[in-house]
Amino acid sequence: MAAYKIIDHTYDVVVVGAGGAGLRATMGMGMAGFKTACITKVFPTRSHTVAAQGGIGASLGNMAEDNWKWHMYDTVKGSDWLGDQDAIEYMCREAVPAVHELEHFGVPFSRTPEGKIYQRPFGGHMSNFGEKPVQRACAAADRTGHAILHTLYSQSLKHSCEFFVEYFALDLIMENGVCRGVMAWNLDDGSLHRFRAHKVVLASGGYGRAFFSCTSAHTCTGDGHGMVARAGLPLQDMEFVQFHPTGIYGSGCLITEGARGEGGYVTNSAGERFMERYAPTAKDLASRDVVSRAMTMEIREGRGVGKENDHIYLHLEHLGAETLELRLPGISETAKIFAGVDVTKQPIPVLPTVHYNMGGIPTNVHGEVLRPTAADPDATVPGLMAIGEAACVSVHGANRLGTNSLLDIVVFGRAAALRAAETLKPGTSHAPLPKDAGDLGVSRFDRLRNANGPLSTSEIRLAMQKTMQNDAAVFRTSKSLAEGCAKMDQVAGTLPQIKINDRSTVWNSDLVEALELENLMDCALATIVSAEARHESRGAHAHEDYPERDDVNWQKHSLAWVENGKVKLDYRPVHTYTLTDEVEYIKPQKRVY
Ligand SMILES: Cc1cc2nc3c(=O)[nH]c(=O)nc-3n(C[C@H](O)[C@H](O)[C@H](O)COP(=O)(O)OP(=O)(O)OC[C@H]3O[C@@H](n4cnc5c(N)ncnc54)[C@H](O)[C@@H]3O)c2cc1C
Repeated sequence: MAAYKIIDHTYDVVVVGAGGAGLRATMGMGMAGFKTACITKVFPTRSHTVAAQGGIGASLGNMAEDNWKWHMYDTVKGSDWLGDQDAIEYMCREAVPAVHELEHFGVPFSRTPEGKIYQRPFGGHMSNFGEKPVQRACAAADRTGHAILHTLYSQSLKHSCEFFVEYFALDLIMENGVCRGVMAWNLDDGSLHRFRAHKVVLASGGYGRAFFSCTSAHTCTGDGHGMVARAGLPLQDMEFVQFHPTGIYGSGCLITEGARGEGGYVTNSAGERFMERYAPTAKDLASRDVVSRAMTMEIREGRGVGKENDHIYLHLEHLGAETLELRLPGISETAKIFAGVDVTKQPIPVLPTVHYNMGGIPTNVHGEVLRPTAADPDATVPGLMAIGEAACVSVHGANRLGTNSLLDIVVFGRAAALRAAETLKPGTSHAPLPKDAGDLGVSRFDRLRNANGPLSTSEIRLAMQKTMQNDAAVFRTSKSLAEGCAKMDQVAGTLPQIKINDRSTVWNSDLVEALELENLMDCALATIVSAEARHESRGAHAHEDYPERDDVNWQKHSLAWVENGKVKLDYRPVHTYTLTDEVEYIKPQKRVY
């Protein structure tokens, strides 16, 4: 690897990613006195968190009585009993101080007439253990993520953290099972960098781009997942992919669930409010898997709208121009641009669209990455942490409730910093790195940069995205999943035939996309193989041939190791205990909608 000059850096902590999770961790590390670097492939405020619309969940009780134990109950139920209840307890309890902390940092939340943080209803959030909807989503109009991300960025600049902006993290530096740092490529001048650190925190976001239609940014390519897989570590619960019921038909752009929270509803070709049939209590605010499945059923049974009967209408007209302007200004604009619709007069054409990855890098409640073994399913990897959508704590289990991800990123971003402060002293000296440190990242970079096969990155990517969209979508059957696995095996097999046209090292977007594609491919393989193996229906994994949830055989986390395009599966137990004795383990119940 002598051909590349490598620039060395030494930090206490390196955070990969500057979305909400990465920034909250970076800030916390800075506050704890650590010499901290934050590496990000896009400018921090362009991270996907900026697109979050609806709100952040916390039982503040500003609009009606609320309680974190009710929030915990809803989250466990939403997770379809795959979530780890110790982690869920931690998140729901910490939600209230976390949102107050954001308020004090300066997040410009919308306000009630008496000046409290405005909260709106959101799917699956109920009062008194499932009795009736409660307004729990703290919102800054329909731009909550934007408000949070900008505030966290300005706060993290106050602490002496160093930002490496437009640096692309390539691979972890591992030595005897310990994470020692990370390799990165400076997109702006083409140089390669070796970051040595006592702790690497992966906050690299989700992998929505493994699918053809998704609400997530083009940068959501599972880079952290790929790095972990190449380090010989497993990914967890990857079969659980959330479809948002209301992506705009055609473009996939999101119309927030907050739209239904404000009173919006969906109809079929007969103009029927069909959610009343599928979920008599929660109706249009049933959890996302329920609404997505109901919409797909209506379309499959010929009651879709439009020329091809292939989508559904979302109505907001009845809310009136004033409310739409005050509470949903962003989505009114999105609907105009991407569907040509004036929301004060016409319904928006919508379709279930990939929105969130419940699965990811397994961690404990402190953000420490797991290397589960039969003897110790909770064993950790020294030096490595993961937070945010890249991680699987698991607080969302088989399905995430709306507003619980913005919550997850701030609560566990903070938890990772608190854990680092407990386990590491700022300025601790570093052992020398092994001679070959970073070779994995550099050789992968070099191989792809010089790749000269017959297929373009976009051809291989499209084949992957189409396969995932067709065979690992809302409805899954044994046949579609088996075919999908075979097709994905074939698509992954074409990766060595990739061709890169641009050989330069400066702003080489061709090479960036190829590196991202390798990461996406590992995610896609883990997703479809884990899905094929899970013979039950739970949360977002709706299997037509196994329509029931099977707690006896399947209340367990899937683990997928991906190596050279092949997936090996194993399982680890769900935590059936809570963190404190203030709450009891919530036993599996039949879900009633
Ligand atoms: C349209 C939309 C609306 C949403 N609305 C809501 C909502 O209302 N409420 C809610 O709770 N959740 C919502 N979500 C989900 C939530 O916003 C995300 O799950 C969450 O913001 C993810 O945050 P993150 O910090 O983990 O990752 P991201 O915000 O995706 O940030 C990832 C970071 O990693 C960096 N990165 C990635 N790969 C590399 C690499 N190789 N090298 C260097 N840097 C890298 C990127 O530069 C970026 O800074 C929404 C999601 C979408 C897509």
